[in-house]
Amino acid sequence: MNLILFGPPAAGKGTQAKRLVEEKGMVQLSTGDMLRAAIASGSELGLKVKDVLARGDLVTDEIVIALIEDRLTEAEAAGGAIFDGFPRTVAQAEALDEMLASRGVQIDAVVRLKVDDHALTERIAKRFAEQGRPDDNPESFKVRLEAYNRNTAPLLPYYEAQGKLTEADGMGSIESVAKAIDEALA
Ligand code: ADP
Repeated sequence: MNLILFGPPAAGKGTQAKRLVEEKGMVQLSTGDMLRAAIASGSELGLKVKDVLARGDLVTDEIVIALIEDRLTEAEAAGGAIFDGFPRTVAQAEALDEMLASRGVQIDAVVRLKVDDHALTERIAKRFAEQGRPDDNPESFKVRLEAYNRNTAPLLPYYEAQGKLTEADGMGSIESVAKAIDEALA
């Protein structure tokens, strides 16, 4: 099964993806984690994207599509993937559909975590104070939310038209969100 966890920045996608990995043995493909790993390693890619991430802007479609493509064989061997933070643009979604189709598989479900902007901004302010992730500063977070609204929200009608979209309330506790996701998948 191939699942997309969809939602605005800081909606809790990563937290829920990790739980699904533990419970179902699927592979989590988080482009944000891959990009941060590249930055931490000091690779050429890391140097190229470091400032883009810090600002809160999106990196190019080409970069993230290549990162995902590199991991699809591994995901297939595990019986599917949880896509977290990818796709973020319609071009990425189209590329993903093509890459999966060429392997004879497809996206089975898209679960949208709904969290209101006010709650997101509060969560992120708390995370910035605790962890100091560079792109959690208020200015970059504003850019991330704008990028979501401009580039990523248009994926909702894309997946709705494919009949794959389900919604889960992302406002509650980690456990209650987990339950909502499980219900959406059932
Ligand atoms: P969050 O969901 O908390 O905003 P992520 O960890 O998914 O954060 O992504 C962090 C940053 O990495 C994004 O703000 C963006 O700069 C970059 N990024 C991650 N995934 C993508 C993607 N699919 N397309 C473009 N940029 C991406």
